[in-house]
Amino acid sequence: MNHTPTTHSDTQSAERQAAQDAWKKCLAIIEDNINSQSFKTWFEPIVPLRLSGEELTIQVPSQFFYEWIEENYYSLLKRTILDVIGRNAKLTYSVVVQQSPVEPVTIKLPQQQSELPPPEPRPIAVSRAAQDFYKANVHRFEGYLKPTHTFDNFIKGDCNALALAAAKSVAETPGKNNFNPLVVYGGVGLGKTHLVQAIGNYVKVKRKAEFILYVSSEKFTIDFVSAIQSGKISEFSAFYRNIDLLIIDDVQFFEKKEKTQEEIFHIFNALHQSGKQIVLSCDRPLKELRGLEERLLSRFQWGLSTDLQAPDFETRLAILRRKMDDNGTTLPPDVINFIATNVTSNVREMEGCLIKLLATASMLGRDIDLPLTKSILKDIIRDKAMNISLEMIEKAVCDYFKISPNDIKGKSRKQEIALARQVAMYLGKQLTGSSLKTIGLHFGGRDHSTVIHACQTIEEAQQNSADLRKDLEELKKRLDIMSL
Ligand code: ADP
Ligand code: MG
Repeated sequence: MNHTPTTHSDTQSAERQAAQDAWKKCLAIIEDNINSQSFKTWFEPIVPLRLSGEELTIQVPSQFFYEWIEENYYSLLKRTILDVIGRNAKLTYSVVVQQSPVEPVTIKLPQQQSELPPPEPRPIAVSRAAQDFYKANVHRFEGYLKPTHTFDNFIKGDCNALALAAAKSVAETPGKNNFNPLVVYGGVGLGKTHLVQAIGNYVKVKRKAEFILYVSSEKFTIDFVSAIQSGKISEFSAFYRNIDLLIIDDVQFFEKKEKTQEEIFHIFNALHQSGKQIVLSCDRPLKELRGLEERLLSRFQWGLSTDLQAPDFETRLAILRRKMDDNGTTLPPDVINFIATNVTSNVREMEGCLIKLLATASMLGRDIDLPLTKSILKDIIRDKAMNISLEMIEKAVCDYFKISPNDIKGKSRKQEIALARQVAMYLGKQLTGSSLKTIGLHFGGRDHSTVIHACQTIEEAQQNSADLRKDLEELKKRLDIMSL
């Protein structure tokens, strides 16, 4: 028998092979324990690098990825690795650091143990002169940071988990993370202001830092213009350049304001270069902003953008319960359920309902029950099912997918047309009181089994496609507006 000496590269490839085998077994276990969306997002991108002895090294795409896995899947991962590799198994992460588009390098991180003491918060150092200057000016901004906008008061759900984790991570290590700037975006009333202010409040209390500024982009713009008018532009600039954590809310307001954008651009550079943290919010994804200078837009995209989605039913319930607690009231479960079922688009509207309900009930001196709730909230909660028609759905879907009504009613099996047709049928079933037969007839004289099939297909496809969920959400929003 021939004996070939083992070479270095033999060992390497054996270790790689062993890692792949072990990781495959791990994935099979993990997949059974978490939902498929999370599995796809967080586990499929991981690359097993080597298994040497009982130490498994896996490669993750970013520091944030690593932190997220450690925070959310630590115990599952640990159990699985011990099961598959053995009692002394160790896990090491290799994090890809994107230095340039072509040259990813990796840094090694040991598995972070929760037993490690949290890093000691260190007050952010500031010069005396800067401190005085800040103190002289900051009164203008006091009151903007609402003390109740904290992480503790922010209810976590699937709709906001990623944004919340990123915000917390920034609050722990302002300026010393890869999320600079952190951009939180999402529709109205979904919690953007709450979340970005929670970062400010956290840093203020926990790190005892003084140089925190929350400002809306309107306020910034108004200040900027009056600084120009009163010849105080250099004071204005100096003020902003001395901030350690700058939070600017609703940056979409900067659209088409070139002079303000230029100022922001310089402030951004100065802060970023000196390791200060910037947090921004926007009512839509940055790339959809029009009238924002390219160089500013590209700066804004240096860090991490993360979105807030409309809350799902469970999160809506949890938020309502928390708001009741805060108000020191309780409401019967069917009332809470009614609100959570009917007010779906944003949290602010839901709060509005609760306040109106409590106020009216106390004025009338009556206990709140379901009939009273329905009558008090009838102006706010319209019977949307009655207001949305198949024609409206047809129009909204055709507009959205950029296809013609003839296509949607026709026989084409082209993928994008078939999908639009199925989406239309699904929405027809969900949002109108129409029968399957009527829906089928409307969309090209199809029979009811085709409608059932379409509904099932969309129902299932949604589970695995964030894009489709976004499409549906957007369509429902548009239909809501059309039905007003
Ligand atoms: P936006 O800035 O996105 O328009 P806000 O941050 O003003 O929205 O949120 C609207 C209201 O809803 C606020 O009172 C906020 O406290 C509340 N809110 C939003 N999301 C949550 C959440 N996840 N948990 C608790 N309250 C929330
Ligand atoms: Mg806001």
